[in-house]
Amino acid sequence: MRPEILFPLFAPARSLPGIGPRLEKLVEKLAGSKVVDLLWHLPSGLIDRRSRPKISEVRDGEIATIDVTVGLHVPPRNARLPYRVHVFDETAEMQIVFFNARADHLLKTLPEGARRILSGHVEFYQGQPQMTHPDHIVRPEDMEKLPLLEAVYPLTAGLPQKAIQKAARAAQSLLPDLPEWQDAQWMRMQGWHSWRESVQAAHNPRSLADLECNAPARARLAYDELLANQLALGVVRLRMRKLPGRPVIGDGRLRKKVIAALPFQLTAAQNRSLDEILDDMTSGHRMLRLLQGDVGSGKTVVALLAMLNAVEAGFQAAMMAPTEILARQHHATLAPLCKVAGIRLELLTGREKGARRVDILAAVANGEIDILVGTHALFQEDVGFHALAFAVVDEQHRFGVHQRLMLTAKGGVGTDVLVMTATPIPRTLTLTAYGDMDVSRLDEKPPGRMPVDTRALPLERLDGVVGSLRRALDRGAQIYWVCPLVEESDEIDAAAAVDRHLHLQAVFGDIVGLVHGRMKASEKDSVMSRFEAGDIRILVATTVIEVGVNVPSATVMVIEHAERFGLAQLHQLRGRVGRGDGKSSCLLLYQAPLGETAEARIRIMRETEDGFRIAEEDLRLRGAGELLGTRQSGLPSFRIARIDEQRDLLTAAYDDARLVLSGDPELEGKRGSALRTLLYLFERDEAIRYLRSG
Ligand code: ADP
Ligand code: MG
Repeated sequence: MRPEILFPLFAPARSLPGIGPRLEKLVEKLAGSKVVDLLWHLPSGLIDRRSRPKISEVRDGEIATIDVTVGLHVPPRNARLPYRVHVFDETAEMQIVFFNARADHLLKTLPEGARRILSGHVEFYQGQPQMTHPDHIVRPEDMEKLPLLEAVYPLTAGLPQKAIQKAARAAQSLLPDLPEWQDAQWMRMQGWHSWRESVQAAHNPRSLADLECNAPARARLAYDELLANQLALGVVRLRMRKLPGRPVIGDGRLRKKVIAALPFQLTAAQNRSLDEILDDMTSGHRMLRLLQGDVGSGKTVVALLAMLNAVEAGFQAAMMAPTEILARQHHATLAPLCKVAGIRLELLTGREKGARRVDILAAVANGEIDILVGTHALFQEDVGFHALAFAVVDEQHRFGVHQRLMLTAKGGVGTDVLVMTATPIPRTLTLTAYGDMDVSRLDEKPPGRMPVDTRALPLERLDGVVGSLRRALDRGAQIYWVCPLVEESDEIDAAAAVDRHLHLQAVFGDIVGLVHGRMKASEKDSVMSRFEAGDIRILVATTVIEVGVNVPSATVMVIEHAERFGLAQLHQLRGRVGRGDGKSSCLLLYQAPLGETAEARIRIMRETEDGFRIAEEDLRLRGAGELLGTRQSGLPSFRIARIDEQRDLLTAAYDDARLVLSGDPELEGKRGSALRTLLYLFERDEAIRYLRSG
């Protein structure tokens, strides 16, 4: 349970003054729905109002705070002209300008003859200084209400800066004094202050340097966040390590059959990774390993051979995929090989219902099924294995740590877990997503793959592209046509794909198929299998095909509005072709003119197919914030920490977390219990459940 001291921070943001029902939605979109989200929403700019010139000293273009006496009001002669108020001090006079002003209101805020302090942007007009719509107008006795240093927050359309400033101030007034979770000596070395002071300092920058991510206050908060992340992963990891493992030692008979039936030789990288996995399985402790391999690097067969090891030893294995399409595809790929091996393979997704589901569950429970492939359905309550020894989680980035653990828990004693990911994550980031999982890398592609010929064309050339598809079809090609993610909405994406489908169907007839996220799973399957069979030659799709789909005969990939996709996504999509031995091509259709980043992305796509290089470039182009924030990446998103610039803090957090957990694995000591508060603060409650007295 969340400690009481944190309650105020987890109150809804709408409980803050100034955030009504209308702004609430905007604030939620911008920062989040809780008070604490506003605390993590740090200023991006600073308005310095400390320049206090006399009127004769003001400079054109500066932000000035000026002490004046109000003079004559000059209402406009017609509504299009501004309302002017003359003001003066002992040195000179200037004009304050208002458009669409209400005279009664101005007479009240700026009564003639009164002294006022004005702060705002000064501009010279025909040699005379003037200030249009001052940001602040206060009486001299209210001077302290005028912020001489004003934090400026990132906004979203419709949300006024003043509202978010007010809410942020109110959120700061709720800051509790929390027990210190950082090591005292480390804090001294870094020149950091308490959490509370740091939050306050981060929201009240005094110079532009204070806005940098390495400013002490921000660095401390970033470190807090990274430490919470590493600690949470560490706790989970430790817990898994503690569960007893059991040696799973197969005799190789099934593997031998399957290897003999493969139409290819395993690559050195596949053999090496398989050895690493088998070493873990045969050892007494529990495996938690990440198999990282770019699209098309051949992870599936590695996973199958490891699963066969478990089956040889008399156990069951399971493979979980993030989507229905993928689960079916894995099942289809594995089926002939399992047949060769003479073992029983089954598929379990949300669609296996009724009697069929009952049968499968019974066969899983009594051990008749050797390998079960499926979606999330695999870890539903009613699925009980007879003896699950090995679980493979494919394309893990769509799953969370918690789901990973659920599957493991199914196995009871010592289920080994292999997580496979095609997202080529830069090394540093692996740490944030997986902590210290062991890693095997398939850093070599199966031989004979020809490079994908990648070109970029402006969308105006679309007609020409459609013409060239005809020639490709004549050569026997199968084609993906991917329509862009317009919004984070399946419905709207589907509409774009539906239109394009109609268009291409008008040209090419019924060899054009369509698959998108709004379709029923059964419809998707039937389209996919017709594409695989070659009945459908052009498949119009949204990004549902992004992950894992494998149709080796497809050799042309057209990506419409390529400028709207991230680099990692483009890479994943392109990875759908170039899988067989045919020569493949990828056409990136873009809307001109290209922005700088989009242009760089397309250039990189043309330069390389190396997923790891692409991931590094992606990180560089976007900054980790954005990369990590995107839903697709599945990596944890950090509110404050900037992984691209704070790799050293990440490494320190990793070491720190390990050290803490080796001395106080249940987080029960003084620092340990403060660290629990930290975990709650960053909403890593999930990890706390794995502690003894969580
Ligand atoms: P991914 O790593 O993207 O999941 P897959 O396992 O789907 O890759 O493999 C991609 C394709 O490469 C499949 O058609 C598979 O049969 C083939 N393949 C896998 N290993 C090899 C190999 N060593 N030599 C040739 N082809 C291979
Ligand atoms: Mg795969």
